[in-house]
Amino acid sequence: MVTLINTFEMRYFLLIVSIVYCSYSCNAQNENAQIAKQNNTAFNSEIKLVVGIVIDQMRYDYLTRFWNKYAEGGFKRLVSEGYNCKNNHYNYVPTYTGPGHASIYTGTTPKYHGIISNHWYDKEIKKTVYCAGDNAVQSIGTEDVAGQMSPHRMKTTTFADENRLFTQMQGKTIGISIKDRGAILPAGHTANAAYWFHGKNEGSWITSTYYMNELPKWVQKFNKKKSVETYFKEWNTLYDISTYTESGDDLNNFEGGFYGKETATFPYDLAALKDQNNGFDILKATPYGNSIVADFAIAAITGEQLGQDSITDVLAVSFSSTDYIGHNFGVNSKEIEDTYIRLDLELERLLKTLDDKVGNGNYTLFLTADHGAVNVPVYLQSIKIPAGYINSSKSKQALNNFMFNTYKSTELIQNVSNNQIFLDRKKIKALKLNLDDVQEAIVNEIINYEHVDKAYTAETMNTVDFTSGIEELLQNGFNQKRSGDVLYVNDPAVISYSKTGSTHGSGLNYDTHVPLVFFGTGINQGSTVAKTEVVDIAPTISALLGIGFPNGATGEPLEFVLNQN
Ligand code: ZN
Ligand code: ZN
Ligand code: ZN
Repeated sequence: MVTLINTFEMRYFLLIVSIVYCSYSCNAQNENAQIAKQNNTAFNSEIKLVVGIVIDQMRYDYLTRFWNKYAEGGFKRLVSEGYNCKNNHYNYVPTYTGPGHASIYTGTTPKYHGIISNHWYDKEIKKTVYCAGDNAVQSIGTEDVAGQMSPHRMKTTTFADENRLFTQMQGKTIGISIKDRGAILPAGHTANAAYWFHGKNEGSWITSTYYMNELPKWVQKFNKKKSVETYFKEWNTLYDISTYTESGDDLNNFEGGFYGKETATFPYDLAALKDQNNGFDILKATPYGNSIVADFAIAAITGEQLGQDSITDVLAVSFSSTDYIGHNFGVNSKEIEDTYIRLDLELERLLKTLDDKVGNGNYTLFLTADHGAVNVPVYLQSIKIPAGYINSSKSKQALNNFMFNTYKSTELIQNVSNNQIFLDRKKIKALKLNLDDVQEAIVNEIINYEHVDKAYTAETMNTVDFTSGIEELLQNGFNQKRSGDVLYVNDPAVISYSKTGSTHGSGLNYDTHVPLVFFGTGINQGSTVAKTEVVDIAPTISALLGIGFPNGATGEPLEFVLNQN
């Protein structure tokens, strides 16, 4: 009889078995997913959403200087209900946007995360590279190359990556900023999406194939609505300009302004100015750029259903217009004051949305900046504070002369950028020169140049362990593989920049001192003037969530900030 069990019956039996097995195993899979969901809920299970807010170029004193102008629901709410770290600093140079955003979210410095600047000279390929540039990916949402971006140059994980690992990739990460690097680096390697704003004649939110092959419906809808066009309107001060007593005169010699307008004075007719100022790009350099980011972040909270279940999501939002405006008009301008008064209201709007959609008590937020900025040096000079400008062509000529006189070659220097000198190590070898000697000779030469305050060799950075001062900041910013052979530091308030507007990049307090406010679930109410560092933010959030620390984190959790009851 056994032989009579025909193949049909046998197949039928196997089919039944497999159906039964599948329905069992599929149920089991669903159940496992449920269990996984419960178990992988971050340790602090009330926190459905972590919101990181970075204000590009926000000095600490913008919080205090404009305090009386702020409404109740923005900066003041964060400070009064949350925890204010009043003496929070960057612990490395250079203080630029790419390294800043990477350091906030990775909890470490360029020495480990590898984002040594916005652009740097790549020693291997002998070309300047961009921190978020990636030719291996394509633009999504535009035909322009502006979408060819990814976090591939960042070597370590962000706390958002660790949250993804911890939750078996179920907790979402979304990064949003006008600037690509302000969205991409915080969101990390495993982000569901990073979105940035493409200006020119498009005015839309874009991304890259690193994240997806098509914009989600909610982003397509947002772009189609063309709501950004409504911001081509007049930019005037929100309140009567005579009440803006915390900033300098509107008309002065220290501001840039826009093409097509004689003076850098209110009001600015953006509809009339847009054609001469790169179309939608002009909005980036007005407070409306921050409004566009707030609009989009609010759309993302609904569109991505952030904070809607018990698995912690991460929303990284960076407001970049503050930086463009600072570069254009300077730290002491009426334009900056108006920008922060308006940003405060955008923060209030964002907080209200989080209360409504996620629920007060269900989210934790921090606010910080990627660097500060210096007062316009010509302004400082006008009030007798030492300041100035580097004459780079003059020092370049002097250094070339020195190299020729000493080594009979002007080809040993490959590149000078970010206050670093890159040497051609192959040529040095070919000429039978000793690399350390050449580095040392250059240090001894350039220290004589005007406005060079300090200089060090890469050899020193590699062999001496600095624990304080500018040397420690240089070392934290020094990446053995990526950084140059000689590092130098300018005199205080001396910059390589136009004579209008502010910039940043140094290790001095005007660039390193930035706000840090924690707010929401698991956060104590209070403040401190004890020194904290930007690299402490990510470990603090990791400790709060009970998840792994970013893999290169060097900062420490700020215990006094966390409510551990
Ligand atoms: Zn920046
Ligand atoms: Zn002005
Ligand atoms: Zn900047």
